[in-house]
Amino acid sequence: MNLKPKKKLGQNFLIDNNVIQKIIKCAEISYQNEIFEIGAGTGNLTKAIIEKNPKQIFLIEKDKKLYEILKNKFDNKIQIFNEDILKFSKNNLFSSNTIIFGNLPYNISSQILTKFIFNFENFKFKMLIFMFQKELAERIIAKVNSSNYGRLSILSTWKFNINKVFDISPNSFFPKPKVKSTLLIFTPKKISSKFNNPKSLEKITKIFFNQRRKKIKKQFNYIFSDNPEVKNKLNIDLNLRPQNLSPETYFNLAGEMERLAD
Ligand code: SAH
Repeated sequence: MNLKPKKKLGQNFLIDNNVIQKIIKCAEISYQNEIFEIGAGTGNLTKAIIEKNPKQIFLIEKDKKLYEILKNKFDNKIQIFNEDILKFSKNNLFSSNTIIFGNLPYNISSQILTKFIFNFENFKFKMLIFMFQKELAERIIAKVNSSNYGRLSILSTWKFNINKVFDISPNSFFPKPKVKSTLLIFTPKKISSKFNNPKSLEKITKIFFNQRRKKIKKQFNYIFSDNPEVKNKLNIDLNLRPQNLSPETYFNLAGEMERLAD
């Protein structure tokens, strides 16, 4: 069987057993946990998960060939879906004890994260343990006033507490990716939203960060039609740039935008 890794499916398989064990340790898997693994690939991480004897293991693998291999290899120990994670909707399989692993296909990793941010109420889980390209991970965990801060940081911090665990060298993968990877853990936050529709937050951050280096004045006036009330209420300085506004300010702005639309 031809098992040439497929670039367009982001196939970089973890081959370093030390790293695999370190990733597994982060989760403290017990018999109470259901595990989901997104993009199980050749099953190197899966094997280590099985050794921890969780309650149930679900795999999602888009590649038909790998799906067949995984099915044969792990047989009755797993339940596997030959599906695209971005379209996956069997949320009744998830519980608050569910741990989700993913050495994510890098071309769609931010889309996968966004799926868990926006479908948050539908997908219950205890934590996400995701591997990203280092550069993307840095954008996710970036704090206000830093150059990496942006939409992804704001959206992620709205829903999650995020911990950076460690970086992983390209040598731990086959084929070797060009850049380092970083493991992040996301745990759900209790949120009291200032706005009702997550799309509002998506929209406001999109409009502001479209002009990343410019002062926010123009974007602000575009959304709030020069209405001084919002500016005064939120005490916003229009000479700032998008990366100078805290996540909290963006949540408030999303709320005000909804109020005006009513
Ligand atoms: N977890 C494995 C493989 C990681 S590579 C390991 O660490 O070795 C990423 C995997 O995601 C590949 O197996 C790829 O086929 C799979 N994949 C790519 N796009 C996907 C999608 N949209 N849905 C589900 N799996 C996908």
